[in-house]
Amino acid sequence: MSAETIIQAVYEQVLKRNPSEPEFHQAVKEVLDSLGLVLERNPEYVSAGILERMVEPERQLIFRVPWQDDKGNFRVNRGFRVEFNSALGPYKGGIRFHPTVYLGIIKFLGFEQILKNSLTGLMMGGGKGGSDFDPKGKSKSEVMRFCQSFMTELCRHIGPDTDVPAGDIGVGGREVGFMFGQYKRIRNEFTGVLTGKGLEWGGSLVRTEATGYGLVYIVNEALKAAGKDLEGMTVSVSGAGNVAIYATEKVQQLGGKVVTLSDSNGFVHDPDGIKLDTVKQIKEVERKRIKEYVSIHKKARYTEGCSDIWSVPCDIALPCATQNELDEAAAKVLVKNGCKVVGEGANMPCTPEAADVFIKNDVIFLPGKAANAGGVAVSGLEMAQNSQRIPWTFEKADSELKNIMVSIYKNASEAAAEYDCAGNFVVGANIAGFVKVANAMLAQGLV
Ligand code: NDP
Repeated sequence: MSAETIIQAVYEQVLKRNPSEPEFHQAVKEVLDSLGLVLERNPEYVSAGILERMVEPERQLIFRVPWQDDKGNFRVNRGFRVEFNSALGPYKGGIRFHPTVYLGIIKFLGFEQILKNSLTGLMMGGGKGGSDFDPKGKSKSEVMRFCQSFMTELCRHIGPDTDVPAGDIGVGGREVGFMFGQYKRIRNEFTGVLTGKGLEWGGSLVRTEATGYGLVYIVNEALKAAGKDLEGMTVSVSGAGNVAIYATEKVQQLGGKVVTLSDSNGFVHDPDGIKLDTVKQIKEVERKRIKEYVSIHKKARYTEGCSDIWSVPCDIALPCATQNELDEAAAKVLVKNGCKVVGEGANMPCTPEAADVFIKNDVIFLPGKAANAGGVAVSGLEMAQNSQRIPWTFEKADSELKNIMVSIYKNASEAAAEYDCAGNFVVGANIAGFVKVANAMLAQGLV
């Protein structure tokens, strides 16, 4: 059977076994489409059923999360943890609280996480979790009660050597704190069971900044390879959360100008460059909407709705909000306006059609698996510090992060070239991530 036929059969089985989960299908298809030549050159992956095993999570947990709101009403949400693959280490991946969360979203994220974690070179398997709970508009007490209830069930399934969750959309330092407190209370142990913890109680310096900084480090590496740098570049960023804020900060430190940010209601365009202190005050301290920005900076403009954000001319686009936020039409507009580099800060923010437009037009396209791996990389470093019981300095953690991002760039580039796709970082990242996991699964027997 040809590699193409095998891949098609695996994909059809995924569709059949996981109906109505389009995001999961999309994530799997993108990876499978990169692997034809890998299977031809490594028939042992085929005979050992590596693909069939890799697309099936090792364990999927779905649970009820009952909680009480401030008015005393009983509320119920659904919790998920998908422990996808532990070939390279304990399951590792964030927890997302957002009303759009359902099993298919968690599976897509968990599947991506396997290869992303592999790319970091650290000992981490892949997993992801979350809930359809919407933290927006909830009081701090409500969020705490929800997190405690969520962890009351989750704590049976995780542990520092088993499964180590972290934050994601809707889950930041505050929520990690509430969940960690509940885990400690029930299990009576203080361990590195979650990453993204507060600095005084086991967190790592640079974890907060890591995904955004790492994204810009890898973009910078790609620019360097093209004989350029960030100095004077105009950059469009979407989102206004953890990833977007720290990507903006690093772009500014390296001499670039970020002109946009957004949230799910709309986007701001500040032609003079986004003032990050204002954004941090609005989003991190006051937890308000991004449109507040224009009441402080009068030259900036706010546009309701997010789709037009990519029509703002830029040299570099960094989608940092959510999946499928940048479609084919937006990609064409970016190319027309001269955009030369796209780095995915979010997970799968570009649709497959958008990614094709970039690749066909020689835009350097850095997929999320590689480009946003800095967050989980520093989470891995947090685990190492927790095991050692010794915190590292900011400089040490930041320099490790930089080294990891540089080596991800190098490994993805080399894998792309080795498999006849030089310059295609989607294929390169998929192959470099996959081969390590596949070899570990082969070595570990029928797992
Ligand atoms: P945050 O919750 O901190 O911020 C998310 C931002 O994206 C907010 O501005 C939010 O706006 C916006 N957003 C969320 N959903 C939508 C939507 N449906 N449409 C438009 N905008 C939306 O999350 P993070 O910054 O942590 O995560 C952003 C992305 O990066 C996600 O894809 C996540 O999986 C990925 N990622 C995050 C990592 C991390 O370390 N945090 C690591 C690797 C990847 P609003 O407030 O209106 O919801």
